[in-house]
Amino acid sequence: MAPGAATSELESFAQERGVENFLISFVDLLGVSRAKLVPKSAIREMEIKGAGFAGYAAHFDMSPADPDLFAVPDPRSVIQLPWKPAVAWVASDLYMNGKPVQQDPRRVLRTQVEIAESKHLRMKTGVECEFFILSGGSDVHQLSDRLDKAEKPGYEQIALMRRYDLIAEVLHYLEVLGWKPYQADHEDANGQFEINWEYDDCIATADKHVFFKFMVKSLAEKYGLKATFMPKPFVNQTGNGTHCHVSVWDTSGEHNVFLDKQDKLGLSTTAYEFLGGVLQNTKSITAILNPTVNSYKRIDGSTTLSGSSWAPCSIAYTGNNRTHLIRIPDGGRFELRLADGAVNPYLFQAAILACGLHGLDHHVHPGPSADWNGHLPPPEGKAVQILPTSLAEALKEFSASATLRKALGEEFVTSYSKIQTERWRSFTQHLSKWEIDNTIDC
Ligand code: ADP
Ligand code: MG
Ligand code: MG
Ligand code: MG
Ligand code: MG
Repeated sequence: MAPGAATSELESFAQERGVENFLISFVDLLGVSRAKLVPKSAIREMEIKGAGFAGYAAHFDMSPADPDLFAVPDPRSVIQLPWKPAVAWVASDLYMNGKPVQQDPRRVLRTQVEIAESKHLRMKTGVECEFFILSGGSDVHQLSDRLDKAEKPGYEQIALMRRYDLIAEVLHYLEVLGWKPYQADHEDANGQFEINWEYDDCIATADKHVFFKFMVKSLAEKYGLKATFMPKPFVNQTGNGTHCHVSVWDTSGEHNVFLDKQDKLGLSTTAYEFLGGVLQNTKSITAILNPTVNSYKRIDGSTTLSGSSWAPCSIAYTGNNRTHLIRIPDGGRFELRLADGAVNPYLFQAAILACGLHGLDHHVHPGPSADWNGHLPPPEGKAVQILPTSLAEALKEFSASATLRKALGEEFVTSYSKIQTERWRSFTQHLSKWEIDNTIDC
């Protein structure tokens, strides 16, 4: 708040827009959005001191004995809910004892952005958040549209139009918010959709990614439906990916330093080194990009009803070919196809940027592109590394990575590993039907 200002930024926002309450929101290590609702009459003080939370109640590596966690709203991120204009959502940064919380995902990203800025670089990204629309109001997870059952439902016009009301409402709100939406389609699985908007600076994209999931889930509930971004809700169907398109610019944001029109794929040496850093560290960041037990059913390389999983299993880059980890669809950017719908939006961007900067610092060259179908074994004489096959394996790679410890911070890596290892234990302690079916007669 500017010294001596009569009203705080959020107070003015409330006055101008007729906002009654603010959702002071943050995302924990597992990507869960948490919030307090704060009336406009109390927002001024919260803007300075933050809203208090018990950190142990969220997925952080904290204890019930720890002092309060303060979520200080960042007015640059504020969004009035288009479907409930009396409320505005605002992302916040976390503090404890007056100091930034080291395992705050938004802070982890901001640190990488500051390092990039010190090198006169600015990463811009666009995310593609796939989701399923399921029946609402019950614990059973099933598709809401009984007629949506084609083997190859990708781009089906009639199935898309059966969900027109919900999807058009999302498109309209994206337009109102100024995100520049440009398409929506039925994706490759029954009941699966995608809605695209234009890329932005990576912190803005991460905030939008968090808000988009909140908006789609909220609107689906309004229609009595349930939207899920779960990586693989149906074992024989394509899973929910969250591809990320990446380019790096100078700090003015005017000049794309990834673009080289002379190159075969339209990329500069900076772009190749950046993506080389991502490929070199892919196994270490898989635990961030594919953060749930369920994630590994999407990237295991098995086929689906439609004939393709559209998910990578090989660690390689290629041109406009959707079967490898990195696709280069156009000059001046690459697409990272690994992450899924459970990815923490801030850690996602932070992991890409940290690996890319590592590639630039060490002039990592990615080698030749992989110009074959990555869902088939590589041609003779070619070899590719494969991804971790479980969360446990990915966590081992993550916590053993000196590069990540240095880039993302010792405290963050230790806390993330601990929280995620507890999730893995919780999974292994559960007795599955598969075990009974396959072991009872041993
Ligand atoms: P596809 O399905 O072919 O992978 P989409 O059109 O669904 O692609 O999504 C492409 C995303 O990439 C969008 O968010 C778009 O704004 C973004 N994008 C386009 N150009 C760039 C760029 N130079 N840098 C970063 N993102 C970009
Ligand atoms: Mg209380
Ligand atoms: Mg797409
Ligand atoms: Mg898609
Ligand atoms: Mg894509």
